[in-house]
Amino acid sequence: MAPRLGLLPVAEATLPLYAGVDLGGTNIKVALVDDRGQLVGFHTEPTHASRGPEDAAARMGRAVLALARETGIATTDIARVGLGSPGPLDIPQGRIVRAGNLPGWDDFPLRDRVSDHCGLPVTFANDANAAAYGEFWVGSGRDYESLILLTLGTGVGGGIIVGDVNIEGAHSHGSECGHLIVDTSDTARLCPCGHSGHLEAYCSATSLVKMADAAIAAAAGGSLADAVRGGEKLTPILVAREAEAGDRLAHDLIMEVACWLGIGIASLMHVVDPEAVIIGGAMTFGRDANPVGRAFLERIREEVHRRTFPTLAANTTLRYATLGGDAGSIGAAGLARLAGR
Ligand SMILES: [Zn+2]
Repeated sequence: MAPRLGLLPVAEATLPLYAGVDLGGTNIKVALVDDRGQLVGFHTEPTHASRGPEDAAARMGRAVLALARETGIATTDIARVGLGSPGPLDIPQGRIVRAGNLPGWDDFPLRDRVSDHCGLPVTFANDANAAAYGEFWVGSGRDYESLILLTLGTGVGGGIIVGDVNIEGAHSHGSECGHLIVDTSDTARLCPCGHSGHLEAYCSATSLVKMADAAIAAAAGGSLADAVRGGEKLTPILVAREAEAGDRLAHDLIMEVACWLGIGIASLMHVVDPEAVIIGGAMTFGRDANPVGRAFLERIREEVHRRTFPTLAANTTLRYATLGGDAGSIGAAGLARLAGR
């Protein structure tokens, strides 16, 4: 898997360098980044979560050292490592508390074990916060002093950056925007965290598939329903494809996700008042390059306008992320740079 951004020749890099590790349930990504946020090296490998955290910590540490070697730099040129991990975390203690997509990794001292394996100091962060910092530093949010990033994937991740401060909170649960309450009714959907009515239960890829599945089971017609009944796997990509082809159900489902997202974003804007709100993650329907992606963003914008103070509606930028799957590793490196200052 190649990085989204091109690599800068190391001779043109501004020292010191920082390594950023993005630990995911499926893949580990390691970025080597210079002091200006330019990518000079990139590595990815499977997480192999079932082998346990000690095995992964060793491979993450070794990957940092291997990347330095391959790039032709000394390990001492790397000032610090940033490590973004799925949470919940205990950030001051450097521990994973209980990651839903990493079963059996509970209460593991990940920060210090990775540091032991690479011999470098490690800054620990929530993965979505790291992605938010990546977009803030060199991505879609680079021109803004503050932003909220929402990542739409299997779940809904959130990161809030205000003036170079990553809002991680007093108990390492800051910026958990996916668990914002958007529905308090008796019929509110259940979030994977165990509470009901949270944004994630309405705006994740998982929830879109559930909504589509329920509509099709209730005898909805159209090309999406036909495709699923014909054996195609129900995924957000299929929903997007059929929406683009003009299927009413697929279109309405995507607009419903956008509506809930707009409701959540309106609340976040009233709390943080950021310069920009950025939407990233895998479930963004082709973003600006696709009519479905553009309609999705427009529907979010419409809902936000309906529900926020006029000053916020008129002046807050709403746009897509630009770093794609590299935001977490680049942002983790950026947080390491901040911590080392
Ligand atoms: Zn929740």
